[in-house]
Amino acid sequence: MNFETVIGLEVHAELATKSKIFCSCPTDFGAPRNSQVCPICLGHPGTLPRLNRKVVEYAVMAGLATGCRIAEFSCMDRKNYFYPDLPKAYQISQDAYPLCLDGGLTVEGDSGGKFIRIERIHIEEDAGKLIHSRDEILADYNRCGIPLIEVVTAPDMRSAAEARAFVSELRTILRCLGVSDCRMQEGGLRCDVNISVRPTGSAKLGERTEIKNLNSFQFIEKAIEYESRRQIDILTAGGTVRRETRRFDEQTGTTHTLREKETAADYRFFPEPDIPPLRLSPADIEALAARLPELPAARRKRYAALGLPAADVHILTEDRALSDYFDRAIAAGKHPRITANLLLSEYLRLSEGESFSCPVAPERLAAVADLAGAGTVNASTAKKLAARLWEGDFDPAETVLREGLGQICDEGVLREGIRSVFSENEGLVAQIRAGKTAAAKALVGKCMGRFGGRAEPRLLNRLVDEALKK
Ligand SMILES: [Zn+2]
Repeated sequence: MNFETVIGLEVHAELATKSKIFCSCPTDFGAPRNSQVCPICLGHPGTLPRLNRKVVEYAVMAGLATGCRIAEFSCMDRKNYFYPDLPKAYQISQDAYPLCLDGGLTVEGDSGGKFIRIERIHIEEDAGKLIHSRDEILADYNRCGIPLIEVVTAPDMRSAAEARAFVSELRTILRCLGVSDCRMQEGGLRCDVNISVRPTGSAKLGERTEIKNLNSFQFIEKAIEYESRRQIDILTAGGTVRRETRRFDEQTGTTHTLREKETAADYRFFPEPDIPPLRLSPADIEALAARLPELPAARRKRYAALGLPAADVHILTEDRALSDYFDRAIAAGKHPRITANLLLSEYLRLSEGESFSCPVAPERLAAVADLAGAGTVNASTAKKLAARLWEGDFDPAETVLREGLGQICDEGVLREGIRSVFSENEGLVAQIRAGKTAAAKALVGKCMGRFGGRAEPRLLNRLVDEALKK
């Protein structure tokens, strides 16, 4: 029997606000343990939470960018449970009336573009972090009250690759909006995977398990692959899959029972009495919609129309700082493909840090691309000029003139140089003429060297070919 895997995701992303969701504690990552806490985020009796306006703005922007409808009325609820990372013994979240509803994203699916529905996006507070050591467990409450959005999808994905594609697209969008850094290694983007299997063609969903807290693309894929296999094996052996919450073991790549799955009733959700319902007017939502930048999907379309290869389009739109830089460069020049090529080959690898940064003015890169596009310099000189600009600023066109870096296209000059290279390498020339054609590349390299790398490459190749045939 063939089985189909059915996957739904709950993605938690920390919002990049300066302060927490209900108090003014800072949200910096990596501060000394329990140094960013106050009576509100520790849930001391008698304290009152106040909702951070930025959290709502960011969540609405995330909703708008993922095609959601923004609820004009939503409210916060208490989700009650006891765990040592939650000093209040409840989490303030949204249950019945979430902020964003009914959106979705088109991602690269197993067979072409696929629309993955988003059922809801709600806002909530994060819990603290437990630090397990050999003989004790310590609690760090700095993360208590860090604002989160939880993005809940419909069970629309059918493979690990589709789940990965969804998380990747969501991450690119949230980063492009600037509402979340989505640092997965710091837990800034975490994913719970709901997964079930069913006989292919069956319309009924199988019993599902939930794998908690996956914080890398690799773990998401591995956990899905392992868990899907495990469930198929159980069903094939005539067993039944139990509904439960499971943990992914990063060391072994396997999943293990964590607890029987709670139902919503176990959490005793009720409206949060300390925070009034949230009311947004159409004008509020309009104002936030007007602040949305051009989204990655639109950018991809625009870049593809410039004739850029798909792989370059993908890289350029992953990071907003990089695509903004590229946009400024192509606005200043005439050759977007060469600009993209220089940017990705020369600057991307030199840029340090999480998002692209570059000391070269985009206009300078455009000037180099234009020199190459016009044939004034060849591709390798263009790369050298681009690399030199990283070290310090200069005017590329003027430098090409002053240093004589222009491309050599004069056939007479090229033939002359080739003749002398041939006479210095008679052995090599004889070998190639005798059939060792693989060595021709080395010979062309020697000729290029004769011209300081400045020969027009196609012309040089043709002339060397002609000379070999003589
Ligand atoms: Zn606080």
